[in-house]
Amino acid sequence: MQRIESPGQPPHYRFEALDCEALDGPEPSAGLLQAVTTRLGGVSREPWASLNLGQTVGDDPRAVAANEQRAYAALGVAAGQVITARQVHGADVARVGAAEAGRVAGAADALVTDAPGVVLLMRFADCTPVLFHAPDRGVVAIAHAGWRGALAGVAAHTARAMIEHYGCDPHTLRVGIGPSIGPCCYEVGAEVYGPMADRWGADVVDRTAGAPGKAHLNLPECSARALGEVGVEHIEMAAVCTCCRREEFFSHRGDGGHTGRFAALIGLR
Ligand SMILES: [Zn+2]
Repeated sequence: MQRIESPGQPPHYRFEALDCEALDGPEPSAGLLQAVTTRLGGVSREPWASLNLGQTVGDDPRAVAANEQRAYAALGVAAGQVITARQVHGADVARVGAAEAGRVAGAADALVTDAPGVVLLMRFADCTPVLFHAPDRGVVAIAHAGWRGALAGVAAHTARAMIEHYGCDPHTLRVGIGPSIGPCCYEVGAEVYGPMADRWGADVVDRTAGAPGKAHLNLPECSARALGEVGVEHIEMAAVCTCCRREEFFSHRGDGGHTGRFAALIGLR
């Protein structure tokens, strides 16, 4: 990921892997809008300080609206373009388009579109953001993978929806796996690490780490393996732990469960 910073605007990150010159002409992916926001540059007070984009975490709605305005202005996005979902830790993929612009698309943990001019947005604080770009088909997607979603393979479901419904090719698909709680910090019980190790391989779990009876889970790696099963080759891992870097990102675990949300978003201009 590359950090983008302009004077007077909140910083954000973008994935190099999602950019592709082939489709868009001289500017690398001039047609692609993608970002992972941080917690910096907003107006919310503790424990949401400061660029909280979560509307259901107890923060003042006026502060969240002001934060949205700042984030959208920095990215050149209008609120009426943005499509979100009610994130429920599942693996359902919603196919959306212009009809859903400016709205919540319903309960889903992944959104896919081939409509230019709309922006898919989801909110995070430790769960894994996964951004997808099929430059040869003009299709983008986003997924939200907490441990339940990762266990259910939400990233793979999203890639399959792009392949089956939009004719995307897994070999040319580009994916960015964003900041999320890392194997350094994600201590879980056997009810979590057991099924994850069974599904994605024993080495996504470090049983030598953590308190007795606990282990550390490599959550983003589970999504990478799910994508590998579908044949996705171009994957950029941010390898940024939200819990270690909570001065820059919101972390549910690191901030004691009471915190804000940063956003990941993607769209075709
Ligand atoms: Zn960490």
